[in-house]
Amino acid sequence: MNLRMIILGRQGAGKGTQCVRLSERYGIPHISTGDMLRSAVEAGTELGRMAKSIMDAGDLVPDEVMNGIVAERLGESDAVEGFLLDGFPRSDIQAVWLNEALAPGGIDLVLSLEVPDEVVIERMLARGRADDTEAAIRRRLDLYEAETAPLMGYYSDLGKLVRANGHGEEDEVEKRLSELIDTYLAS
Ligand code: AMP
Repeated sequence: MNLRMIILGRQGAGKGTQCVRLSERYGIPHISTGDMLRSAVEAGTELGRMAKSIMDAGDLVPDEVMNGIVAERLGESDAVEGFLLDGFPRSDIQAVWLNEALAPGGIDLVLSLEVPDEVVIERMLARGRADDTEAAIRRRLDLYEAETAPLMGYYSDLGKLVRANGHGEEDEVEKRLSELIDTYLAS
């Protein structure tokens, strides 16, 4: 089974929670670039030192750095048959790079997890992560609209995009997402 997926959605849309569930359900690794960067910060690596101030400000780590990290991760043996990418791509440069890196097959499915604004901000303020200050949250949401939301058009044109309502109980949202994935797998 080949199942190479991306999940798109604003921070606070519930991607992290759903990714853990879907990764287990389909037996594919959950690859979160935010988690990878946070581990690097924690470990005090060169990457971590470079990324920390960018992340604290809610800005984006440069594309070439991110593409390099993802290239390395996708080259690992557990990602050969499939993966669930979370937090990447976040810009058109990253998306175009990924498409080339995965050629000729490309991505199988792009899930867009959609929730209303009020819910997103409420959830983000409740998590209390180091970069969850109000200014950084606002910056990340602005960047999402400017850089990441246009990717929906890109994947929609490729016929890969499916939209899912991310509002509701976790079980309910997982059911919606898995139904969309199962429909793809059966096609
Ligand atoms: P996340 O956990 O996905 O919200 O990511 C946390 C932070 O890591 C973001 O606010 C960015 O500063 C950085 N980051 C994660 N993924 C990327 C990416 N694909 N491109 C640029 N920066 C990223």
